[in-house]
Amino acid sequence: MNKPEKIKNGIGAKVLIIYTGGTLGMVYNERTKNLVPFAFSQIVENVPELSRLQQELHYVAFDVPIDSANIIPEDWIKIVEIITDTYENYNGFVILHGTDTMAYTASALSFMVQNLKKPIILTGAQLPIGIPRTDAKENLITAIEIAGNKEITLPEVCIYFNGRLLRGNRAKKRESSQFDAFDSENLPYLAEIGVSMDYNVDLILKANAEKSTQFYTHLQSNIAVIRLFPGLRVDFIRQIIEVSKPAGIVIESYGAGNAPSEEDFWTVFKSAIDNKILVLNVSQCTGGHVDMGKYETSQKLKEIGVLSGHDMTIEAAICKLMWVCALPLGYEEQKIKLETNIAGELTM
Ligand code: ASP
Repeated sequence: MNKPEKIKNGIGAKVLIIYTGGTLGMVYNERTKNLVPFAFSQIVENVPELSRLQQELHYVAFDVPIDSANIIPEDWIKIVEIITDTYENYNGFVILHGTDTMAYTASALSFMVQNLKKPIILTGAQLPIGIPRTDAKENLITAIEIAGNKEITLPEVCIYFNGRLLRGNRAKKRESSQFDAFDSENLPYLAEIGVSMDYNVDLILKANAEKSTQFYTHLQSNIAVIRLFPGLRVDFIRQIIEVSKPAGIVIESYGAGNAPSEEDFWTVFKSAIDNKILVLNVSQCTGGHVDMGKYETSQKLKEIGVLSGHDMTIEAAICKLMWVCALPLGYEEQKIKLETNIAGELTM
């Protein structure tokens, strides 16, 4: 990865922009007739307002900017390495990222960089920066102002988009056409940005001055997600477990964590758990939480040792499982980690 380059001087905080790609920096390719990512220099040219910001700005860009549909866990490791190498030099970080997988990247980073002392703000856009009606400029400028705001302590990985500051591991992409692409149904916004910047200070996580920031660069991506639907065949689940031998499974269950009560269904998960596969239950609902045992249809899952994902988003659950499965811990300790709040991703 290249060294950070200076965009401009400033009298305010120092902010590093990490450019990974996404619609924000895309241009229309006349030949292929679709949007493709473009170089970072084009972004700076299109936002002359950057020169009027107080913050001192630097940037580092992925060698090849990508559509975030192509993001892989190795890219998250790359981002963490950039942050690790430059952590002491900056007051905050802005990550420019496609919206499609932004909630996954934000969730992954919240587990990979713990005991944060400064903000990491992801943003992007629904329309490329060169288009007059773009939302990219406002998102970028405000994300920089949030990351470089010395008056507020914001030790969190967040998504800033369309006037809302969201905890990253609570956010979901919920809209592909309108500008309000992200929401977090199980947690109020950390700030609402309109004429003024109104922070919900009581909700923001507190930095622990005693503990130093920890960076993790190992993830286990051999995990499976099984979304329940009426008619899902147990055979299909059995094949995933027997052929792929995943280290962990996320069950996307119904409502408050419910699943079919037929014996075949729970025995397949029981044998996975007997083989020390971590099985985590999150709901298909975007609001509310898993409450195994509330209904008869979740009692059996509880009895066989399926773990509760509480009110985690599916994005957070997947990334947490990847992080936990890569920790050098025994099975019982990994189980405890999964059900424990690590970075504000679940309400206990
Ligand atoms: N496909 C694009 C991406 O995620 C969409 C976007 O940026 O809004 O990179």
